[in-house]
Amino acid sequence: MDFSLGPDLELFRESLRRGLEKLLGGGRWVEIDEAGVLPAETIRGLGSLGVLALVCPEDLGGQGGGWLEAAIAAEEVGYHDPSMSTAVYTLLNNAWPFILSRHGNPDVAGGIVERVARGEMFFGIASTEPSGGSDVAGIKTRAERDGDSYRVYGEKILISGVREALETLDYGGWLLLARTGGEGHRGLSAFAFTGKWGGRLADGLEYSILDTIGRHGISTGILRLDGVEVPGSRLVGGEGRGFYVAMEGFPLARILVAAANIGAAKWALERAVEWSRERRLFGGRPIASFQGVSFSIAEAFAELEAARLLVYRAAWTADRYVRGEASREELNLYSASAKLKAVDTAFSIFQATMKIIGGISFTKEVDVHRGLLGTLSYLVGAEGAQNIMKYIIARDLIGREYVKL
Ligand SMILES: Cc1cc2nc3c(=O)[nH]c(=O)nc-3n(C[C@H](O)[C@H](O)[C@H](O)COP(=O)(O)OP(=O)(O)OC[C@H]3O[C@@H](n4cnc5c(N)ncnc54)[C@H](O)[C@@H]3O)c2cc1C
Repeated sequence: MDFSLGPDLELFRESLRRGLEKLLGGGRWVEIDEAGVLPAETIRGLGSLGVLALVCPEDLGGQGGGWLEAAIAAEEVGYHDPSMSTAVYTLLNNAWPFILSRHGNPDVAGGIVERVARGEMFFGIASTEPSGGSDVAGIKTRAERDGDSYRVYGEKILISGVREALETLDYGGWLLLARTGGEGHRGLSAFAFTGKWGGRLADGLEYSILDTIGRHGISTGILRLDGVEVPGSRLVGGEGRGFYVAMEGFPLARILVAAANIGAAKWALERAVEWSRERRLFGGRPIASFQGVSFSIAEAFAELEAARLLVYRAAWTADRYVRGEASREELNLYSASAKLKAVDTAFSIFQATMKIIGGISFTKEVDVHRGLLGTLSYLVGAEGAQNIMKYIIARDLIGREYVKL
């Protein structure tokens, strides 16, 4: 067993660190969080660094990289923007263009992937509806056949990237899940839905941006579709295959979510260490000399290392899955475990860091709360609720005949 990533991945990480320092360092990530907008030039900067559509095939305009590489990218982006906004942008614009390139019409996929890779287009996932996100098989949005096209009617809520897709950039869309058949998961289809193309918004599409409590740089919004036309060529994976297509994307996306969370948590842990050395109390003693402080840092380190190993294991499993060497169950098991562990760990490290910093951490003098709120988004549901991760692990470990929803 060898725990080193090897010279190529280490070099990739090093050069990415330098690029991200220029793009987001010097407090730039805080300005983005404070302004509540991820500027187009930052998105193009991510494209220039090669972290968008990194896992998509080169012949479609992607970078042809692997999932371990993408996990390292997400980890580094999470470290350099612990508010998580830039990491959310990065991870969505890997997992979902990848699914499109695997199951979509190659001409449609090519047009989207090449733009995503250059940072000219956002492409995420539109699954969640007001009636509840966990029950994907219960989706109500309908796609009705209309000649060679479909007309889509329904509402999607809590959708990441609405402003980026429909305002900031000239091109934007989502892998959108809609019902083309009867009840249950077999009635669902997936579409490469473009809400904006060449600066023009799709007819019949309305949207609004939700006022979120954190990760302000990337928007979370609502899409209302009233007969929006989607050409038949944009069906992904065939009619009735939408659930299966999406259920391949979620575990892959969750690995990058987990990676981004451990990156952000590493940043928080460094702040805790720094503060514990510098803050002096009780006759000039650094607070690090009190075990109540140093032990919580020690525990955070151990938890973070455990989570990181699980994330790399999940990313390695994803690479094997894509090559046909690992089963979907294995992918699900490691991806759900990595998301469960990394998000819980990251949130508790942010909490511990805020406690170590003390009262001033409750003000904007210190930026740790931005990371606490970023990781919280994944604790309350983004990319799948934590209970759903436990369900997936239990189902694939114990057996589908025992663990059912
Ligand atoms: C910041 C943010 C960004 C998001 N971005 C996107 C996006 O880009 N695209 C998208 O489609 N969605 C997105 N989501 C939505 C996200 O996928 C949902 O929040 C998630 O799937 C949970 O759905 P819900 O919030 O409706 O909660 P519900 O599904 O209503 O669940 C509520 C609670 O019940 C629990 N629960 C539900 N079912 C079970 C069960 N069977 N057993 C035990 N417990 C259960 C859940 O764990 C949760 O705690 C985003 C969410 C957030 C917060």
